[in-house]
Amino acid sequence: MLKGLELHGFKSFDRKTKLDLGARVSAIVGPNGSGKSNVAEALRWVLGEQSMKSVRGKRGEDLIFNGSKTIPRQNRAAVSLTFDNRARRIPIEFDDVIVSREVYRDGTNRYLVNGSVVRLKDILELLSSIGIGGTSYHIISQGEADRLLMAKPDMRREMIEEALGLNIYQYKIKETVGKRLLVEKNLKEAVMLRRELLPQLRYLAAEIEKLERFYAVRDELTSSYVSYFALERDALSAMRTDLDRQEIFFAEKQLEYPEVNFEAGREQTRALLFEKEQLVRSLGRIEGVIAAAKSMEDEAITADQFIHEQSVSGQTTLCRTCGQLLPEALGHTSDQPPVLREEGRAIFDIEALSGEKNELESRLAGMEAALVAARAEEGLLRERIARRSELSRAVARLEEEKRGLVLREEQFHADLRDAITRVGRPVLAYENITAEESGLDLATRRRELERLAIRFEELGSIDESIRAEHAELARRDLHLSSQIEDLKNSEKALGGIMSELSMRIEREFEEGIQKINGQFGEFFGVLFGGGEAALSRVLISDEGEAEEYGLDVAVSLPHKRVKSLQLLSGGERSLASIALLFAMSQVNPPPFLVLDETDAALDESNSRRYGDMLDRLSGRSQLIVITHNRETMARAHLLYGVTMAGDGTSRVLSVQFEK
Ligand code: ATP
Repeated sequence: MLKGLELHGFKSFDRKTKLDLGARVSAIVGPNGSGKSNVAEALRWVLGEQSMKSVRGKRGEDLIFNGSKTIPRQNRAAVSLTFDNRARRIPIEFDDVIVSREVYRDGTNRYLVNGSVVRLKDILELLSSIGIGGTSYHIISQGEADRLLMAKPDMRREMIEEALGLNIYQYKIKETVGKRLLVEKNLKEAVMLRRELLPQLRYLAAEIEKLERFYAVRDELTSSYVSYFALERDALSAMRTDLDRQEIFFAEKQLEYPEVNFEAGREQTRALLFEKEQLVRSLGRIEGVIAAAKSMEDEAITADQFIHEQSVSGQTTLCRTCGQLLPEALGHTSDQPPVLREEGRAIFDIEALSGEKNELESRLAGMEAALVAARAEEGLLRERIARRSELSRAVARLEEEKRGLVLREEQFHADLRDAITRVGRPVLAYENITAEESGLDLATRRRELERLAIRFEELGSIDESIRAEHAELARRDLHLSSQIEDLKNSEKALGGIMSELSMRIEREFEEGIQKINGQFGEFFGVLFGGGEAALSRVLISDEGEAEEYGLDVAVSLPHKRVKSLQLLSGGERSLASIALLFAMSQVNPPPFLVLDETDAALDESNSRRYGDMLDRLSGRSQLIVITHNRETMARAHLLYGVTMAGDGTSRVLSVQFEK
């Protein structure tokens, strides 16, 4: 998988130096300080190492060739690592994938893939696809032979997870957590935004309802107006026809009963009555005189004596024509009393008196007849007058009604104008319908109209722009609600992915540990000639939601009671650590392993066993070993000799071995 490494300006490698790493086992050999470890560090660094300490530096600048007495310093350190990608294990459509890293003196640091600048994240993602993660457990630097063994439980777990190829899942979990945080943030924002919209949306919805109510009432009012106006128009026209007809009728009647003067008739009657009264009075006097003449005759009293007696008793009256005082009974509202003078004395002429009386009586009878006729005439007149005044009252009433009609017609037009102002010209539809079509009677319609008009006024004015505002807000609300729905779904889906990944990690981790333990025990037994070694879970934290486990290593050496790692010798620690590293690599082989003097502390027999294990491992992983150990060198297929010339720069020579 690894094809080659190129260094340029990196640490002691001033010039461009290429190393072909295609062999199963490549060994880098050379004297102390020649630059071998620099090669291992170049590998570590180009893969994205962030710790300067791991590459024995403080700043990026420390990695750039610093010059020597004869050779000037460089401004850039660059390392490129070429992978053979014909099998497409790296998901990029290139047969060769070249990962490069550069650092400049000004501190600029760049990553490139096949010459294109990329982010560190892209490099890490790319490497995770071939099982290389951030712990770089597969690069054992110089002096780190016991690195795996002595790591803290959490770090150990991380390295084992990476060795088991679980870092890709961890990476996905991390990515999913990031996505979920973003989703949660967006969800929170959307919910908040929606909550903020709500009061305004509610207000606008109520306004829209009011608007609808306004139009409904307006329509109702309009149709009520239409019906009412049709009814009222017809009622007015019927009234006008009726009043016109009445007017003609009364005009005719007035002609029939002309105005009469009642007083003329009365005057005639009154004169007749007066005349009658005179007659009655004259008759009474005549009768009185006749009666008196008869009694005088009986008592042989003369007229003079009678008059005298009457005057004595004071019952006299002055006769205006004859100038004499006469008894009242003989006085008469112009006639000479019919007195006869016989033998010197006056006596009443009874015959004459009777004749006069008869005449008076017949005159009275005539008078009575005239009076009856006059009275009849007066009755007729009275009746005529009564009719006439009845007619006048009726005409007055008609006039009143006509005035009423005019007022009502004016009211009609005023109402119509009002209606147009209020609900517009559609009210004019009344012109095209008949009263029958309007249903209901006028009074009911009027009441209904007034009730509707009050309701309409109560609704007040409306604002049509509310509709657009409401539509806009409702659209935003709908958008937010579907966004919330989507976000909730993705939150759920991401949660599902996370728990699935966690379960998968858990399952594969558990299975992996068992497999590693099987190999670990075996390698340990080979290296130590017995004994036991195993990894076990240890609880490192139960804070927060989940319990966190790390990994412990338990070893027991043959024939020794020592169990604590701290009490092992340096060589023992190296051996145990190598056993663990090889066990891990055996279970899930990494594409390559870099071992920088991991064999330094091994004695001869262990060096052989170590060499055997290298042979075994090289079948599945490429190995790059930096070594001073002959046994190890013997296992290599390609040997690089690194020397440092007098100018302080490293040079590389390669020696190909025949297997
Ligand atoms: P050993 O066998 O003792 O471990 P080695 O071959 O691994 O030695 P390295 O540690 O790789 O040696 O090389 C260290 C050399 O690299 C030193 O001579 C050091 O001066 C040189 N060196 C380190 N950084 C720079 C730099 N920035 N510029 C020039 N030379 C450097």
